[in-house]
Amino acid sequence: MANLTRDFFIALSNNELLNKSAKKWGYRLGAEQFVAGTDIDSVIKTVKRLNDKGISCTVDNLGEFVTEKSESTAAKEKIISVIERIHEEQVSCHISVKLTQLGLDIDESFCLDNMREIVGTANKYDIFINIDTEDYHHYAPTIRVLDELLQDFDNVGTVIQSYFYHAETDMDKYKDVRLRIVKGAYKESEEVAFQSKEEIDENFLKLAKKRLKCNTFTSIATHDHHIIQEIKQFAAEEGINKNNFEFQMLYGFRTEMQEQLANEGYLFCTYLPFGDDWYGYFMRRLAERPQNINLILKDKLYTSDNKLKKTPIVIAAASIAAACLLFCRRKK
Ligand SMILES: Cc1cc2nc3c(=O)[nH]c(=O)nc-3n(C[C@H](O)[C@H](O)[C@H](O)COP(=O)(O)OP(=O)(O)OC[C@H]3O[C@@H](n4cnc5c(N)ncnc54)[C@H](O)[C@@H]3O)c2cc1C
Repeated sequence: MANLTRDFFIALSNNELLNKSAKKWGYRLGAEQFVAGTDIDSVIKTVKRLNDKGISCTVDNLGEFVTEKSESTAAKEKIISVIERIHEEQVSCHISVKLTQLGLDIDESFCLDNMREIVGTANKYDIFINIDTEDYHHYAPTIRVLDELLQDFDNVGTVIQSYFYHAETDMDKYKDVRLRIVKGAYKESEEVAFQSKEEIDENFLKLAKKRLKCNTFTSIATHDHHIIQEIKQFAAEEGINKNNFEFQMLYGFRTEMQEQLANEGYLFCTYLPFGDDWYGYFMRRLAERPQNINLILKDKLYTSDNKLKKTPIVIAAASIAAACLLFCRRKK
């Protein structure tokens, strides 16, 4: 059942038509709970609010299914504007980017040129750029672009997805590069990736522990309290310096735990997506945790004094829930 629901939302996240339509409908259907606004001013405001709580941020300009060079150029310019604002406002924040937004599917060397401009600008201000990893199909070209950038810059790194069999080899290859370790958000075949939660979790812990011992800065990105607890214990037992790693979570998830980890003296960084292209990101979050639908529906259906709202958004949200239920029942 959990796998079916996950597959359903992953399929929705990959639907280009729904993606484009969602952009037109606007910033609705509960996405605002997980997306820090649609413009640079609102994201910077959120960064400041989180910084005041001792939490740093990584900002992601949302955007998928980019097919035109002009779209990638616009995305690059927007990301550079965010970098300039981070520098002007002196906030504690770096940038996460997805290479498909910067033209990876259009022309790899065009994408590399875009990245050179982004990483070069950030380098002037000592701001780190993280290259998010996408599905397996994009993995090899992503690594090629990263390797080119690493020849000229030291303020760029990437993400290791522990569901891939090749994750450990790549992590070892980048032993001197700042990395984020995650489980992996896409649907991958058993030819290339572990399928069961147990195997993925086990590999995550194995990689995270190995990496913590190597002393290069590492982001442990998970909402999984079992993994966080085990990492905390491991770090304490092994005497790992708390400045050598941070925990990361996505904006809008386990907010209390995010603040608690920062209050306990761990470095903590919140991943802050922004922009109007929120649909694919949002659907992947529903795929990971279908309970998120409950949170959203509750928020959308009821007012703060527990009265039922009557707005078109409510109807749309309820329709999504009904479609999910129908889909799951049919597949049973
Ligand atoms: C900062 C960040 C960056 C990421 N970057 C990438 C990337 O570049 N590429 C990529 O493929 N993936 C990325 N991901 C997504 C990642 O791969 C996983 O898909 C996602 O984090 C879900 O796995 P999890 O480890 O958080 O926990 P899960 O495996 O989803 O959950 C494990 C357990 O934790 C608990 N739990 C989880 N969430 C909640 C919650 N909200 N409330 C209460 N309990 C909860 C539940 O008990 C659950 O059973 C990123 C994730 C984060 C946090």
